[in-house]
Amino acid sequence: MHLDNAKTALKKYFGYETFRPMQGEIIQSVYDRKDALVLMPTGGGKSICYQIPAITMPGTCVVISPLISLMKDQVESLKANGIKAAFLNSSQDTAEQQAIEDDFFHGNIQLLYVSPEKLVNSSFQPLLQKAKVNLFAIDEAHCISAWGHDFRPEYSQLKFIKRDFPHVPIIALTATADKLTRKDIIEQLGLATSQTFIASFDRPNISLEVRPGQKRLEQILAFIGRKKDQSGIIYCLSRKSTENLAEKLNARGIKAGFYHAGLSAAERSHIQEAFINDQIPVIAATIAFGMGIDKSNVRWIIHYNLPKNMESYYQEIGRAGRDGTTAETLLFYSYGDVMILREILEKNQSENTEIQLAKLERMQQYAESLACRRRILLNYFSEDSNERCGNCDNCLNPPTYFDGTIIAQKALSAVYRLRESVGLRFLIDVLRGSGRKEIFERGFQNIKTYGAGREYSFLDWQHYLLQLINLGYLEIAYDQKSVVKMTPASQRVLFKGERIQLVQQTTVKARQEAAKAKSKPVTKRQRVRDDLFEVLRQLRKQLAQQRGVPPYIIFSDATLEEMAARRPMQDAEMQQISGVGERKLQLYGDAFMEAIRGFVTQHATTMRDGATLQVTLQLYQQGLSVEEMATKRELTTRTIYNHLAQLYENGEAIKLDPIISSTQIKEIVGTLKYLEQPYKLKDIYERFDGLFSYTQIHFALAHHRKVQKDGIGAS
Ligand code: ADP
Ligand code: ZN
Repeated sequence: MHLDNAKTALKKYFGYETFRPMQGEIIQSVYDRKDALVLMPTGGGKSICYQIPAITMPGTCVVISPLISLMKDQVESLKANGIKAAFLNSSQDTAEQQAIEDDFFHGNIQLLYVSPEKLVNSSFQPLLQKAKVNLFAIDEAHCISAWGHDFRPEYSQLKFIKRDFPHVPIIALTATADKLTRKDIIEQLGLATSQTFIASFDRPNISLEVRPGQKRLEQILAFIGRKKDQSGIIYCLSRKSTENLAEKLNARGIKAGFYHAGLSAAERSHIQEAFINDQIPVIAATIAFGMGIDKSNVRWIIHYNLPKNMESYYQEIGRAGRDGTTAETLLFYSYGDVMILREILEKNQSENTEIQLAKLERMQQYAESLACRRRILLNYFSEDSNERCGNCDNCLNPPTYFDGTIIAQKALSAVYRLRESVGLRFLIDVLRGSGRKEIFERGFQNIKTYGAGREYSFLDWQHYLLQLINLGYLEIAYDQKSVVKMTPASQRVLFKGERIQLVQQTTVKARQEAAKAKSKPVTKRQRVRDDLFEVLRQLRKQLAQQRGVPPYIIFSDATLEEMAARRPMQDAEMQQISGVGERKLQLYGDAFMEAIRGFVTQHATTMRDGATLQVTLQLYQQGLSVEEMATKRELTTRTIYNHLAQLYENGEAIKLDPIISSTQIKEIVGTLKYLEQPYKLKDIYERFDGLFSYTQIHFALAHHRKVQKDGIGAS
């Protein structure tokens, strides 16, 4: 099998022009009947790696997948592309299973998804032996390893595949596997002559931003702003806060639901469905939400609280933008969250508490970092990256530094004089000279630094002190009621004149301003595009409802965006849109082109470009007269003639003879050599003394230009 077949199938069935990095190599390795272990991030495009071989090679590809809810989704989206796919699992009755097994036996299925339980079931084995299997794809392959984070005992029985089907290639796929897990997968599955493909875990379309966790509700409202109907998830630490937040958002006109493990199974699946089907755009949820969801058009993720480690954070933000188009993420960071998480971890003491605490600390460092955040993330996941990404807050609004030595001296000397006996808040209160009762009870109003930092607000101080902690000039003694303590470095500042650079608190403000500016009204062109996108989104929703599938299965957001930008109005143009394969063109092409035409006609006056021409062309091809077109489009006949001339010049099949004969054209063109360029219609008109109409002259010039262009093109 040749990779050209794979490319053809990619376009025909999925409507994609090119493979993403690694996909081609992986498919080639399957064609070469080699086993493969594939590591790609969520949304990286793992499925294509076995789906393309499945549909280009004779026989059936058996896909083993542990998540029943996802199976259904995958099968739906394959069917929507005209691929013969089915699933077998415990959610079906015997008759249903029987019918699918028959199809499988007769080779009428290209991809068969089965749960591991079903696959290893002894009643299924004879069929598996008889049917022609061209490939085994093992999804979520990390489940086979006890090292991984999601071990499933049924997976360990999958060893039999290599034993019983030594000649059928196996492809094992996962989004998370450290070195040990990888080794385990290869060993346990007995992958022979296998290659490991590790794609970059970078998800450049996802923007990264961290902001201080202050006035979160207001910040969220501003963030959502224009994104009101786009799907997004807000991750919260507690069940209660998901409920509170959802309520507050609803009160402010944002349709939001909440989700946590305390809800009944029915309530949970109801809310999940509503989210998937674009009925409720915003979900405030605990981390319980998102596992069994393959929704490709989640456009943003907010972390209301700090996640407990980088792994969770990356997994959660990874749920945004699977379709590859822009997605935004925002993490709120507050010191209070760190304390709460520490407490939780310390309370549930176990043998790996130390590790968990260390992971929390890494998370905290990430949130506080001033370097490119993507770089930190990728390096954390052992991917060497030394470039600035340009799509994180630290890259977009680099921090500005100033000499913070005096601030540091004030803070450190306060800690010193308070004999390292107070926490962060208390320290700030002393620095700002607060009248707080405890200060007077303990006589701290008499120390020299009391009120020495009045000129800075509480938030400013918090910001500066966090930096001093990060830089190692102060530390928090978690084991002693979190009091602030000195470090060896503090001595250097207090007694040796060491100078310190701090980041201006205004950096944060500047970022918020920049964010606000981003949500400001956009250009007219962009607005038109957004409006059309919205029209297409509504159409998609309606079609999805009729067909009983999630909207993103009809077309992804990325595909709709491209349609809104390029406004295809003919099959040939529609087919060029990424994500429009043959089947979808056939099923939905007309509906979407009709919507685009309707939109363009309505907005003809605001769109001085190709789109309005296309509408005229459509009507012309339907056989309408110039007058009829003008009436229908509420334009003058003059404008319609101009469109037709332009279309003719562009090479469209416009008949000239009803307007001007070829002899007449020759006559007009013949005089051009006596005229100055650029030719003026009026000059020609006057030269012939009204013999030809302006429209005729216009067409003669269009013809002339076309001949010249064609001539140049041909030579
Ligand atoms: P994963 O299983 O790795 O999470 P998927 O296979 O679901 O990722 O792919 C994520 C998205 O990317 C899907 O919408 C898919 O159709 C799209 N995609 C995959 N391969 C390509 C490609 N070569 N070109 C364009 N889009 C692609
Ligand atoms: Zn960056």
